[in-house]
Amino acid sequence: MDHRLARLRAALAERGLPALLVSAPANRRYLSGFSGSYGYLLVTADQALLFTDSRYTLRAAQEAPGVAIRQVVNPGRPFPALLAEAAAELGLARIAFEAAHTTVAEHRGLSQALGGGVELVPAEGLVEELREEKDATELATLRRAIAITDAAFTAVLERLTPETTEREAAWMLEVAMRVGGAEAVAFPIIVAAGPNGAQPHASAGDTPLGSGRPIVIDMGARVDGYHADLTRTIVLGEPDARFRELYAIVRDAQARTIAGLRPGLPAHEADALARDYIAAAGYGEHFGHGLGHGVGLNIHEGPSLRRSATGSSAPLRPGMVTSVEPGIYLEGWGGIRIEDLVLITEGGCEVLSQAPKLSL
Ligand code: ZN
Ligand code: ZN
Repeated sequence: MDHRLARLRAALAERGLPALLVSAPANRRYLSGFSGSYGYLLVTADQALLFTDSRYTLRAAQEAPGVAIRQVVNPGRPFPALLAEAAAELGLARIAFEAAHTTVAEHRGLSQALGGGVELVPAEGLVEELREEKDATELATLRRAIAITDAAFTAVLERLTPETTEREAAWMLEVAMRVGGAEAVAFPIIVAAGPNGAQPHASAGDTPLGSGRPIVIDMGARVDGYHADLTRTIVLGEPDARFRELYAIVRDAQARTIAGLRPGLPAHEADALARDYIAAAGYGEHFGHGLGHGVGLNIHEGPSLRRSATGSSAPLRPGMVTSVEPGIYLEGWGGIRIEDLVLITEGGCEVLSQAPKLSL
């Protein structure tokens, strides 16, 4: 964790901020290792203080041996009062807080406890930006989550029949991932048969998979807090002509994009690699969502690969892990989406997902 704290401290120094109060659980876990549901981390130039309650003090000591732990007791020693104590001890006149992860009520409570002597300064994205580039430990964990996901998909694929319902298929995939070593699913598994697949984020229901129609499966395992994300579109029986046409467009759009990903490429230009190809094929209006997103301690995190109007123009950097998931969705017919996770490398990118694709 030390190098992560060091990178955050450098970012704080650059902005002239003496301390950051970390309240987002994923950011707190990233910097301290502590995975409990309740906690705050205060990081200064030379201190890291973790505040949590009695449910978690033992776990915090195990998971975050490198930081000092202070136990919050409500109502006797509520967190805002403990923070005010720490600010006085450490001589802090300003504390940055995570504006995107602090409610108005929490902010009011902190302001009242800190009083006029300590200024609360809103900050955004400081830890999230660090998390975009994965270190060796994170990459190893992500590779495990991805391998479990790929293996579960491959094993269950052989057992699906036209009579299997979406919900049954989703459960079979979940069981396979759990048995394979996942601590949880990364998100509710999507299995969307036929017209249901026209909604990119359909939920699995009672519809049988059927034959000759597209079935979108979007799934991922979670391992040690890290999320995998995989989409395959399959068909049972013989696909129709439209399936063959659209599948080839999405597959080729994804392959072209993957061939073009490299450090320095602005995120919105990565999106355009797929979007322009799909638009040239006549289906631009049917690819509504962004090309991809980072994965890690959250299922959706930076970088955000989207159109320039909505996405980031920040360049890709080595160490980023992002999804590449173009799709085409036709109301009344269904959808085609193919999603792989890739690692941006010095020379381009490495495809991490290995689940099989259709060979049509
Ligand atoms: Zn997905
Ligand atoms: Zn995704």
